[in-house]
Amino acid sequence: MGNGKPETRAILDEAVGENLDRLISLDMRGDLFLPKIYRRAREHEGRPLVLAAAEKIVAAVNKDRRGILILTGFRIPPTGAPETDGIIGSAVIAHTLMRALGAIPVFACEPEVQPVLEAALTSVGLSSTTLGTDWTGTSQPSSDAIIVSYELDTDASDVAALFDRLEGLALCLAIERPGRNAQGYYHFAGGARVEGVIAPVDDLYELLQSRGVPTVAIGDFGNELGMGVLRETVADNIPSGRDCGCGCGGGIACPTLADVTIACTVSDWGAYALAAMICHLRDRPDAYISLDLYRRTVNEANLAGAIDGTSRLAIPDIDGISLDFNGMLVEMIRGVVSYPNRPMMENRNRMYAAEQRRGLADLPKNESE
Ligand SMILES: [Zn+2]
Repeated sequence: MGNGKPETRAILDEAVGENLDRLISLDMRGDLFLPKIYRRAREHEGRPLVLAAAEKIVAAVNKDRRGILILTGFRIPPTGAPETDGIIGSAVIAHTLMRALGAIPVFACEPEVQPVLEAALTSVGLSSTTLGTDWTGTSQPSSDAIIVSYELDTDASDVAALFDRLEGLALCLAIERPGRNAQGYYHFAGGARVEGVIAPVDDLYELLQSRGVPTVAIGDFGNELGMGVLRETVADNIPSGRDCGCGCGGGIACPTLADVTIACTVSDWGAYALAAMICHLRDRPDAYISLDLYRRTVNEANLAGAIDGTSRLAIPDIDGISLDFNGMLVEMIRGVVSYPNRPMMENRNRMYAAEQRRGLADLPKNESE
């Protein structure tokens, strides 16, 4: 099974990954699109998507390379408020990356996204500061997370300078981040062009990729950064896939690739499952977000200006799915990870048998202790 793991452990990790993939690939709209893009990504990867992504991340972080660049924030005109999807998931995963791996989450987003991101990070318990001169990319920053302010007019020389400042990044993770199509324009899934609010963060992603920094991307339609593996599937299966209708002459799909692609029902779900998978691989189920902190994060992000991408209202929905449903999913994900790691069952017969085997007078201790 590879990776030098004992075989039983490799089988368990595969099963947990499969279970998580199933939870995040429900066809909620009931239009058969999600099953198609999930299948495409799965076919490409050849194994559970969250397992492949989590292993990539765990392998990339070490004591000399701890920075993980997270690209997120999908701003919606005319106000330019960012949607909840992507931002909540990024905070959830930043929390796990810091606690389970000792990683330093680094964000690059438009200045308008920053207050929302800060509110989400504070809600999961992480302090954040804007990238200043005190952090070189490898040193210990003065806060738990770093935010790089990325302006709409950022050009190639700015990106090169930024790359130098962020030297030593372990990995780049894009979560529901708008991605340019082959013509160079950003689009909503339905085909409308998104103008005047999206910074070309794609340039930084592509530069990192060309310098060998590993990449993981999470998306739910194919118009997001790093979802290039879905390009043909998107073109073949939705009307806006081949011709967006905006006049640019392309479809909505972003052709930029990632080393590992997670296609899922809602991008945020992919981020929750990926966080949980990392917790499982590191035997740190406690590093997964609590339900209380999760709910607080969605509410605080709303109050700081995040809107639901479907209704476009500042309500705690994500892609039109309610906070209660998403909270239950967060708990289902926790259950999938914690069940295989549960303490030995308090079954009287088993306890007696264990006592006999060990020849102990007292009751057996929990196996995991
Ligand atoms: Zn277009």
